[in-house]
Amino acid sequence: MSLTKKQQQIIATILDKIYAERPISRIDIAKHTGITPATVSSVTADLIQNKHIEELGETKEQLKAGRKKILLDIPKRQYYYIGSEISQSRFTFVLTDNTGEVIYKKKMSNSTTLSTNSVEDYIDALSSFIEEIEQNVEAIGVSLPGHYNQENPDYILTNNPCWKTFDLKKLKQSFSVPIYFENNVNAMALAKRLLSDEIHSDNFIYFHVGHGMHYSYMFKKQLYSKDNFLIGEIGHTIVNPDGELCECGKYGCLQTYASETWLMKKAKLLHEKSSSTFLREFTNDANALTLDQLLDASELGDRAVTALLHQATKYLAVSLTNLNMMIDAKKVFVHGKLFKNKQLINLLREHLAAKPLLQGFEHKQEISIESYDSFNGAVGGVAVALTYHLIAFPS
Ligand SMILES: [Zn+2]
Repeated sequence: MSLTKKQQQIIATILDKIYAERPISRIDIAKHTGITPATVSSVTADLIQNKHIEELGETKEQLKAGRKKILLDIPKRQYYYIGSEISQSRFTFVLTDNTGEVIYKKKMSNSTTLSTNSVEDYIDALSSFIEEIEQNVEAIGVSLPGHYNQENPDYILTNNPCWKTFDLKKLKQSFSVPIYFENNVNAMALAKRLLSDEIHSDNFIYFHVGHGMHYSYMFKKQLYSKDNFLIGEIGHTIVNPDGELCECGKYGCLQTYASETWLMKKAKLLHEKSSSTFLREFTNDANALTLDQLLDASELGDRAVTALLHQATKYLAVSLTNLNMMIDAKKVFVHGKLFKNKQLINLLREHLAAKPLLQGFEHKQEISIESYDSFNGAVGGVAVALTYHLIAFPS
């Protein structure tokens, strides 16, 4: 029996609610979604039969009539998914179950034998991962280093020329398992909502600092304005009009202070020009410098490197403070390799604490620094696969 669009929407709403707020009772699902208790009962009965959800037991909280609430949860290891991230420096892959629990993972870095800009190399890497895991999967979700939408489904939409020939259609056609794509920061925001141990049902921002910068806004439980690619491009907001010329044509964008790309560009200059920098202790080749080495040089006391990192942190704090006045979010998750460094986390918190808020309107967003892991984007891919394959029924 095929479902009507309305029925699909109801199932999607219920399944999304259970994933995001599990464990949860049928009564609470009905109360929060406006779907009638009878429909919730019948839909959840089908979902239980198909092992997408399970009954967990009773809550201690008694209802007025004396009946107990039965909680619904997602059963572990019923279905399996592959999540992956494509980035400039590496491909990452995870095999997870339907709750997002990572069972196996693999990282393949850019090298002389693997080009991360080549779709053929990605297809080979994914094929070998599938062979290694020996596990049937429902779907594959891929986090991309750029935008993605259904109007241009064959390419990564970005102004970075190195992705121009990365043919997603060819990638899809190379596998029999369905593959879904999403921007990497959107993917991590989806994972935060659906696969996190904590419940994140209020509006939140997922703020990513990497080679580029982007924030995704989860507004009323959905990604806000996903198809307007300007929304979230925080890296290209101006923090200093007298600053350097950014690749977007404006001067003094946040990107030119705090993105990994620009930090590495400035570190390379230091490596070449400064006689006192510690960066030369790590490598003779300025092009081979890594962000980890920058963080190490700062911890060792390299003043110029420390100044770069402190400036990046200061401007990030300015941008986060500005967002507080423009976007209604209870929490901001800050994600980036930069904040593997505890001193920078403390400095960011100091800057944020120092900004006075308007008297009488004190509603400060809570800032949470995400623990950085190079597989975060791949786990985001699993949330993409779950969202588009299971929950949202794309046709
Ligand atoms: Zn810019």
